Amino acid sequence: MKRGVVVLGSTGSVGTQALDVIARHPDDYRVVALAAGANTELLAEQAREFGVPADLARSCLDTPDVLAELAAHPDADVVLNAVVGFAGLPATIGALEAGKRLALANKESLIAAGPIVAKARAAGGGEIVPVDSEHSAIWQCLRSGRHGEVARIVLTASGGPFRGRSPAELATVTRADALRHPTWQMGAKITIDSSTLMNKGLEVIEAHELFGVEFDRIEVVVHPQSIVHGMVEFSDGATIAQLSTPDMRLPIGLALRAPDRLPEAFGAIDWSKVGTLTFEPPDPATFRCLALAYDAGRAGGTAPAVLSAANEIAVEAFLDERIPWSGIAEIVEEVLNAGAAGADEIADVLAADRLARERAQVSVLRRSVA
Ligand code: MG
Repeated sequence: MKRGVVVLGSTGSVGTQALDVIARHPDDYRVVALAAGANTELLAEQAREFGVPADLARSCLDTPDVLAELAAHPDADVVLNAVVGFAGLPATIGALEAGKRLALANKESLIAAGPIVAKARAAGGGEIVPVDSEHSAIWQCLRSGRHGEVARIVLTASGGPFRGRSPAELATVTRADALRHPTWQMGAKITIDSSTLMNKGLEVIEAHELFGVEFDRIEVVVHPQSIVHGMVEFSDGATIAQLSTPDMRLPIGLALRAPDRLPEAFGAIDWSKVGTLTFEPPDPATFRCLALAYDAGRAGGTAPAVLSAANEIAVEAFLDERIPWSGIAEIVEEVLNAGAAGADEIADVLAADRLARERAQVSVLRRSVA
C-alpha cells in the first residue's frame, strides 16, 4: 500500500528534495497535502504535478493554523515538517498528537518545546524520525547497541565558511560571505546558522531531546569534508559512524521508509575519490553560539526557546544587512542573559518566544548601522 505523505515547507530545500524522492518512487508514496510560505507559484506547480487538490495545497502565511490541520490529515502516514523556524511548532505537535510518523527537519520546534513535544508524542502515540543529516546518522548508529550502552554521541560540523578564522578577521564579513557554504546547499537561515556554529548548537539540543542523552555526553567535532555525519561511541570503546557524500535525499528517504531503507542510493561513496578525512575541535572563542547553545540546553525550561527565537531575529537582521556577523552571538547572549523560566505548557513557550523576539529586536535596533 502507498504511504500517504504530507510535505510542510514543500518549496524549500528539504521539501523539494523530498518531492524528488517521492517522484522517483510513485508506487510507494502519494502526496496527501502540501504547505509552503510565500512561493505560491511553485506550490501550485507541485500540487499539479502530484495531484494534490487545491484545498490541500496551502500557503500558511495568512493562516498558520493550516499547518497543524494538514499534519493531522487522516490519509497521512508520514508528515514531513520542513518549515523554517519556530513557525513549525504547531505542525510538530499536530502530527504527534494525531499519532503520525513525524519526519522532522524543523529542529526549532523540538528545541523550543522539547518537553511539550515529548508530551504530545506520548499522548498521541506518534513517532519522530529525524531528517537532519547528523541526527539521521546517529539514529542509524544507535541501532548498533542498546541505550544503556551509549557512552557518547558525536555530532560532526563542517565548520562552515569561516572555519579557522579569528574574530578580527570575521569583523567585516558580509552576507554573501556567510551564505557561501563549503559543502551543503541549504536555505539562507540554516546556512547563516552554519557560519556561526549556532546550527550545531541547536543540533546538540535536538540530539538531547531526540535520543535522551545528557549534554555532557554530546560532543561536537569539526569535520570539513562532511562525509561522516554522526557517530556513537559505545561503552566498550567501539565508535560506529555513518558516512555518505552530502545528499539530503538519503536521510529524507530513510525517514519516509524507516525502519527499511530506500532501494535507491543517494550519496554513496566513491573511495577512490574521497581522499583524506580530517577532524578537529571547534573554536569556542570565535564561534560563541555553540557554547551559548550548550548553556541554554543545560539550563532547560524556556532557555532553548529564548536562544532559538533571539537567533532567528538576529539572523534575519544580519541577512537584511542591519547588523554585523558578530552581532548575532552578542544579541543571543544578551537576550539569554535577560532570563528564561519554566516551560510546562505551550503558552509558556509561546510567551518566552514572543518576549525573546521583542528583546532581540530592541537589541538589533540599538546596533543597527544607520
Ligand atoms: Mg544538520
